[in-house]
Amino acid sequence: DEITIATLGSHTALHILKGSKLEGFSTVCITVKGRDIPYKRFRVADKFIYVNDFSEIKDEEVQEKLREMNSIIIPHGSFIAYCGLDNIEKNFYVPMFGNRMILRWEAERDLERKLLEEAGIRVPKKFEDPNDIDRCVIVKFPGARGGKGYFIASSKDEFYKKANELIDKGILTDEDLKKAHIEEYIIGTNFCFHYFYSPLKNEVELLGIDKRYESNIDGLIRIPAKDQLESNINPSYVITGNIPVVIRESLLPKVFDMGDKLVEASKSIVPPGIIGPFCLQSLCTDSLEIVVFEMSARIDGGSNSFMNGSPYSFLYNGEPLSMGQRIAREIKLALSLNMIEKIIS
Ligand code: ATP
Repeated sequence: DEITIATLGSHTALHILKGSKLEGFSTVCITVKGRDIPYKRFRVADKFIYVNDFSEIKDEEVQEKLREMNSIIIPHGSFIAYCGLDNIEKNFYVPMFGNRMILRWEAERDLERKLLEEAGIRVPKKFEDPNDIDRCVIVKFPGARGGKGYFIASSKDEFYKKANELIDKGILTDEDLKKAHIEEYIIGTNFCFHYFYSPLKNEVELLGIDKRYESNIDGLIRIPAKDQLESNINPSYVITGNIPVVIRESLLPKVFDMGDKLVEASKSIVPPGIIGPFCLQSLCTDSLEIVVFEMSARIDGGSNSFMNGSPYSFLYNGEPLSMGQRIAREIKLALSLNMIEKIIS
């Protein structure tokens, strides 16, 4: 039977759907009125499933429609947020590309850190107690808050002073403060590596690299330092876009090594391990050390920076390959080899 590639119309749906069409699949976009516009205007979806609200993605009725279309769903950041991890793990009976059990490992900061550490990847030092702060740190809070309320401090006094100011302004609560995640602030350049692990070929590919474009921080740094001091504006790190970059070529062995190590570690920690796209968000210091502060164990939003291919994805076959098309190609190969169970869950 013909397979339909399905995804929620958000996040990285444009190149997931486009790439699937290029590989000859029919595509379906789950959407709400108004949010369907890009998928219609760019003509990447053959069919639409309309819901009143994205959170209806988990409803039995939507799942039934997807099964009728013989769908494989591609999970991305928005899909996970709206479907919910518990539902994905226990109640979502549609074949999903990749290992659905690994998604919790990127969503929960402690699990994420455990996986990265097990893989032997350098992560920022974590401070359990604010009184131990002995260097510049970034203080983060739980939940998808887009970096609102995050702050930088260099001593315990500065930590408490800034935390209390944010509480007074109503940006943070006392509860938040108890859950503060304090980690070493890495001064470096941002690289987010977009990898693809093919279980069929048993190889990790590097398909592209982006850096983040975040508000208000990227606007704030356009103000001269003395005005920054006077403005008293709190920084935030709300992701608003992505910029494609390339890395110094001599660092590529390290980049491949990190990807290989993460895939290896994931195989024993969350069997069968990572399948398909994943991303490491890093900072590269002036001693050329690459420190990873975040990971995605599925397609990452920064892959939108190479919908028409990246300098790296071009190197494989001399064609403009996107992450979405790479996924579709793996599905196509698995179908032809009768090995689809190897890449879905
Ligand atoms: P996401 O939406 O990606 O899950 P988040 O709220 O979990 O975001 P992070 O991605 O951890 O936040 O951090 C947001 C931004 O803060 C990063 O893109 C980066 O610019 C900066 N940042 C995070 N951790 C560090 C660090 N250890 N050192 C320096 N900068 C950092």
